[in-house]
Amino acid sequence: MLDAKRLTILTESAKYDVSCSSSGSSRSSRGGIGNTYAAGICHSFTQDGRCISLLKILLSNQCVYDCLYCVNRRSNDVPRATATPDEICQLVMEFYKRNYIEGLFLSSAVFKNADYTMELLLETVVRLRKLYGFRGYIHLKGIPGADSLLLNRAAHYADRMSFNIELPSEKSLKLLAPQKSKKAILAPMGAMAEEYKIARQEKNKAVLPAGQTTQMIVGASSETDGQIIRLSQALYDRYSLKRVYYSSYVPANNQTSLLPTTPVGLLREHRLYQADWLLRFYGFSAEEIIGSEQNLDPALDPKCAWALRNMGLFPVEVNTAPPEVLLRVPGIGFKSASKICHARRFSKLDFDDLKKMRVVLKRAMHFITCGGKFYGQESLPAVRTLLTLNEMPNTMEQLSMFSSPDINLSVLGGEL
Ligand code: SF4
Repeated sequence: MLDAKRLTILTESAKYDVSCSSSGSSRSSRGGIGNTYAAGICHSFTQDGRCISLLKILLSNQCVYDCLYCVNRRSNDVPRATATPDEICQLVMEFYKRNYIEGLFLSSAVFKNADYTMELLLETVVRLRKLYGFRGYIHLKGIPGADSLLLNRAAHYADRMSFNIELPSEKSLKLLAPQKSKKAILAPMGAMAEEYKIARQEKNKAVLPAGQTTQMIVGASSETDGQIIRLSQALYDRYSLKRVYYSSYVPANNQTSLLPTTPVGLLREHRLYQADWLLRFYGFSAEEIIGSEQNLDPALDPKCAWALRNMGLFPVEVNTAPPEVLLRVPGIGFKSASKICHARRFSKLDFDDLKKMRVVLKRAMHFITCGGKFYGQESLPAVRTLLTLNEMPNTMEQLSMFSSPDINLSVLGGEL
């Protein structure tokens, strides 16, 4: 059985992987019921939108690679531990039976070599499924460079797999993660996409039902937001990824002049996630999002920034504009656009109707007419100032649930 010391090391070492996020709170019960712990259990979202708790753990943090940005790198002096496949299985089953978790997020450092590590990961998921009869959610990290037979087999047991691209360019990989290469990371992603496609053609839903994802570290290297967004678009187009996760760089016990000494902050990560939503759900291309700039405007969400660059296309009449045009209006999100399209079939809409449909009029009013009426500002600098003022506070802190009544919840929910 995995002892508490190794369990702590292996869950603590897994916390920097954000492709299933949200562990990070640490609090003791002090006489009440229940503790939270900074590592170990995190939350993820299933295909049908349910939020589930996952045990987030590494099989081993004994890495033979030396990626400079990583706390588990070979040259870092940290406590090391490795679990056996059966120890992980027992832990998952015990936690599952006690209702602590609904699934597993299993990753590993490169222990001995890529094939050996992938064999252990595969053995763990096969045992869990076949020997222990575990039917819960499994997100498995694939080890780039491992034999394709191992990786393809793993795809038949995991719900989701991910290969972390880590850094946005080959140049940065060479500099900061010299044992990794873009080719070695992209090759298995391509193979997984193919495996997934064939399985769907054969109506086999057992292969990666939740698809594949990847993670990129933002700010450890010099790539611009433009390079990152273009790469994300290529990854979505070529490998049918479900998601690209962006992890803003946090110095983790690194002593090298090749890396920033201060954290990059959450605002850049937040803007990239907003841009990512525009790519995936709003029909924008990377070129449209970034325009002629190198980086996203930190003061404005990327949809507002795009609209300001294209004021000639506005205002649009909400009663007649096609759905794809409505989606491009700042303040009209996915849900409100469908509500508008549905409701306007029966009657002409006015501004009160839009408010009820949760259109964020503070932003949308500068870009729409409703029944021919326009209440926005026409001067570009004035619109920009008002939109900037309506934005969230420029902070690198995690937002509080309770302290800021002005926060626009539609932005937090992904409605742009
Ligand atoms: S391969 Fe690199 S990023 Fe992964 S655990 Fe090892 S040092 Fe860290």
